[in-house]
Amino acid sequence: MSDEHYETLDPENWPEMRQLAHRMVDDAMDYLQSARERPVWTPVPDEVRERLKAPAPGEPSDPARVYEEFRQDILPYPMNTTHPRFWAWYMGAGTVMGALGDFLAAVMNPNLGGANHVAPLVESQVIGWLRTMMGFPEDASGLLTSGASMANFIGIAVARNTHCGYDVRRKGVLAAPGPLTVYGSTELHSCNQKAVETLGMGSDGMRYIRVHSDYTIDLKALEQKVAKDRKAGMIPFCVIATAGTINSGAIDDMNAIADFCQREKLWFHVDGAIGAVAILADHVRDQLSGMERADSIALDLHKWMHIPFEAGCILIRDASAHHDSFSLVPEYLERSSEPGGLASGSLWFSDYGLQLSRQFRALKVWMSIKEHGLARFGRMIARNVDQAHYLGKLIESTPQLELTAPIGLDIVCFRFNPGGMEIEALNQLNQAILVSLQENGIAAPSYTTLNGEYCLRVAIANHRSRPEDFDALVKAVTELGRNIM
Ligand SMILES: *Cc1c(COP(=O)(O)O)cnc(C)c1O
Repeated sequence: MSDEHYETLDPENWPEMRQLAHRMVDDAMDYLQSARERPVWTPVPDEVRERLKAPAPGEPSDPARVYEEFRQDILPYPMNTTHPRFWAWYMGAGTVMGALGDFLAAVMNPNLGGANHVAPLVESQVIGWLRTMMGFPEDASGLLTSGASMANFIGIAVARNTHCGYDVRRKGVLAAPGPLTVYGSTELHSCNQKAVETLGMGSDGMRYIRVHSDYTIDLKALEQKVAKDRKAGMIPFCVIATAGTINSGAIDDMNAIADFCQREKLWFHVDGAIGAVAILADHVRDQLSGMERADSIALDLHKWMHIPFEAGCILIRDASAHHDSFSLVPEYLERSSEPGGLASGSLWFSDYGLQLSRQFRALKVWMSIKEHGLARFGRMIARNVDQAHYLGKLIESTPQLELTAPIGLDIVCFRFNPGGMEIEALNQLNQAILVSLQENGIAAPSYTTLNGEYCLRVAIANHRSRPEDFDALVKAVTELGRNIM
């Protein structure tokens, strides 16, 4: 058998594959460059939904045909986070270099569990950059994660394993002298409760503290709750502060929480999914003061740093606490004691989280940060904050619109309210406005409910948004509101 006919998963025709790859890159650049020209949302047609239920093919097909199917059935119906008027939930807008970085990472296809090759050095450098950004000491440890959900999970797990007064990792939560409890505000992101539940403390172990009218945690209420729980035999071990709440971008008082945790010997964890990276923005930095005193910080890179999904990071001040929470090395993973060779590396990221095999997500981060520099990311963040206040002013100067929460960071909550409507009808009206905005492809805010009031929520983590995009939003909401009423 000649070499050409020895079956592998490589292209049967390399020149054709090369040509196809070039076309993909050209199309991708066209697509990203013209992001503004497409509607912000296009629903998936029924016939496409049907085609996407077809069974897996048993036999090969031409790569060019596979790509054509992608162009026809997949590319036209995106979530469209890359659009300048995508402001839903809280998502970054992507970077071109990040997309290419993901491609090159897959080309190299390393496994970031560990071992002696270049990729762990890149991840280590990226973690170092983030550690410096956050003002953490040089010997703090870190891990890139799928996002802040996993980063918060790791932070809370290390807190639980090292801060409950006994060997939790060995004996489990059932050996605790009382229920283990974690504290955060009622605005805390749900992933933290999921982590607390998964770590064996039950949802009762997640203690919610009321917030002030600006949606930051009420410190007095926190102190009282911890004292009361201790009296009742519970074992408080961790307070989670939020740097940028998901509803309205509120930032808890980091220094006050740090002081409290120090006094009470509690682990101070920060959920900084949204706001931690805003430390790069000159006029936000002061609001985050005290974050650098945390025992652990979870942050997201696929939100306000715009790295393509997925990318988040956990930083832990006490590296050995981090290592001792997750390291477990059976014989088949024994590291070589030889001085050289592939298995001789000392950077084993699998010692710092749940995953053994890990993707090279560091590369897209590394390439994006190298291309733009941290100062430019800071300027993009600062501009989004300014845009939130610009939108706020537009809303305040439009008679039928009203803000429904103070503007925190880059999140604006507002509604159409012509006056004199029952709350139910008003909620429904705003719901209809939101659906209409999206279905007409105009803009994609999302919504939230604050004190029972449904409102549109505009989260401007978008480096492509311009002032005229907010003018267009306000105009459309006002017109839709009047038409639907
Ligand atoms: C988005 C978010 C999370 C969850 O992060 P993922 O990256 O989606 O896993 C956690 N906390 C806050 C405050 C968030 O905004």
